Amino acid sequence: MQDNYSLLRGQWVYYLCRMRKKEKVNIRTLTLGEIESYFEELGEPKFRAKQVYEWLWQKPVQTFEGMTNISKELRKKLSDEFSLPGLTVDTVQQSEDGTIKTRFKTHDGHFIEGVLIPTASRFTACLSSQIGCSLSCKFCATGYMDRKRNLEFDEIYDQVAIINKQCEKANGKKLSNIVFMGMGEPLLNLPAVLESARLLLHTIRREILDSICLNRTLSDVTLVATKREPFDVLAEGLETNFSRGERI
Ligand code: SF4
Repeated sequence: MQDNYSLLRGQWVYYLCRMRKKEKVNIRTLTLGEIESYFEELGEPKFRAKQVYEWLWQKPVQTFEGMTNISKELRKKLSDEFSLPGLTVDTVQQSEDGTIKTRFKTHDGHFIEGVLIPTASRFTACLSSQIGCSLSCKFCATGYMDRKRNLEFDEIYDQVAIINKQCEKANGKKLSNIVFMGMGEPLLNLPAVLESARLLLHTIRREILDSICLNRTLSDVTLVATKREPFDVLAEGLETNFSRGERI
């Protein structure tokens, strides 16, 4: 349902797009309600927003041109006013045991890594949450890099969507687990990690979220949280965040 906040933010985005022609808004930062409100201002029917939202998250496409059930005029209008940044695959390495390591390139030219780790009982995606890392663990190659920036929630989402496709192609099965043990410290980018988890809840499969793990036990960093630990304050926070504020 479209709440007042979505309505106002959608209208605000509509007018912002008109005032700041050169600086496009990333359309994936908008909720469904905000896109509906924006389309209302354009005089477009509400169901168009749902169609666009599905292209953004459920199908997904990397250009407005790929939204084939939307009119050409509307696709042009969207591409004039919004950006649609996404991760692209730079290089892929596969080992004999089925592990697939992917180097992704961000829209602003940085590189991050995600890994598909298959075992007999599970298919795990190991994700990055930041570009570089500020915690400088001595044993870790990333620790010798400067932290460039946090990943956005859509960039975390893209890693899962791409690795999930790799998993289906290589193993005939979807991912079953996600761990944030790639580049960066997820607890220092928690809002984006949680937002990506909320989106994944609707688009990949719910079971993944039952095994989401933010566990740094191998590092000398003291931030530790796992969703499975019932008495952990952070774990309780994760439960609360997973169950509210859904985007669809
Ligand atoms: S927190 Fe993780 S990514 Fe960062 S330096 Fe330590 S082990 Fe490496």
